[in-house]
Amino acid sequence: MAPTRSGLVTSGDQAADLQQKMSMRYDWMSSEIRAVYDAPLLDLVFRAAGVHRQYHDSTEVQVCKLISIKTGGCPEDCAYCSQSSRYQTEVEASPLMQREEVLEIARRAKAAGVTRVCMGAAWREVRDNRQFDRVLDMVKDVTELGVEVCCTLGMLSDDQAQKLDDAGLYAYNHNLDTSERFYDTIISTRTFADRLNTIASVRKTNVTVCAGGIIGLGETVDDRLSMLQTLSSMNPHPESVPINVLSKVAGTPLAEVAEVPIWDTVKMIATARILMPRTIVRLSAGRAKMSASDQALCFMAGANSIFSSESKVMLTKAVPSPAYDEDKALLGTLGLKIRPPFKEARQDASPMELAATP
Ligand code: SAM
Ligand code: SF4
Repeated sequence: MAPTRSGLVTSGDQAADLQQKMSMRYDWMSSEIRAVYDAPLLDLVFRAAGVHRQYHDSTEVQVCKLISIKTGGCPEDCAYCSQSSRYQTEVEASPLMQREEVLEIARRAKAAGVTRVCMGAAWREVRDNRQFDRVLDMVKDVTELGVEVCCTLGMLSDDQAQKLDDAGLYAYNHNLDTSERFYDTIISTRTFADRLNTIASVRKTNVTVCAGGIIGLGETVDDRLSMLQTLSSMNPHPESVPINVLSKVAGTPLAEVAEVPIWDTVKMIATARILMPRTIVRLSAGRAKMSASDQALCFMAGANSIFSSESKVMLTKAVPSPAYDEDKALLGTLGLKIRPPFKEARQDASPMELAATP
């Protein structure tokens, strides 16, 4: 019994679940968010850990694998990105991968314990119908393996979002990346509103929403919290919020920015957990540089997902990831187990749907 995107939950007390849903807030004010964030660090972590335990099984962490199905050569100018054709980075552009190759990587990922496979393309938007049809085939193939499938392909129209839904896509990732105020410092080739429009297109379908951002781009704490405010004011909240720490890429405009202290990452995760209790908060890019104890603190603060990889590459070689076996050992040390797929409910599952959960 693992309904995929229907809004049904697979376990837990239905009445408590309904009550939790009713207690979601979509009106966090910036002053409230700042007060949450500014609490003494251990008090903030303690509070977030309590929220985490109320809404999730704190012994579970979802393990995801990102497959870059189309790498490099992107026309956008995202200042952090190794794949933008505007910057001279070590990443070489390659065409859309073959269906069999993607399926093989996904099979190996599943065998290693991965329960969510994200397919990313270095596209500004989905333009080429033939290539899009090939991605739809990949979505079908990988979904048949019994893992959650996410895509991140750039901007989408309503029609394209619906086609992904029809192919059985579980989630669509479209990060806000930073605050509305800071957005055009980082990206000039599209707007913050463009991002929100694509998220709105996805929301019209049964596909769940994955939207988060990056810290360490030179933004202020207020920018980080403003991004969280935008996410937490979405009703329903995104089912998934990745918190990336910038992987500095030689050749990009952000190659030399200051490192993000681990404490900032922990505070960001804890604040996201408190504002969006049901959401899966993903400790994403930047994890390869963290010690085991840093990561443990992030899990304590409410992170319940990681990206792992056989090749130690998360997105491109400029954005590294720990390997499957290292992560297995880490989770074992911490007494954590892998969260099964299809466990989270759609955030807008209606009380009727929840009440009908067997
Ligand atoms: N082209 C698609 C788009 O922009 O939506 C997919 C891009 S990429 C796979 C998705 C996300 O990876 C970006 O939105 C960004 O948050 C993250 N990312 C890319 N490069 C990064 C880096 N160097 N450090 C941290 N996060 C990064
Ligand atoms: Fe292109 Fe996406 Fe990289 Fe921006 S983040 S340059 S849109 S691949």
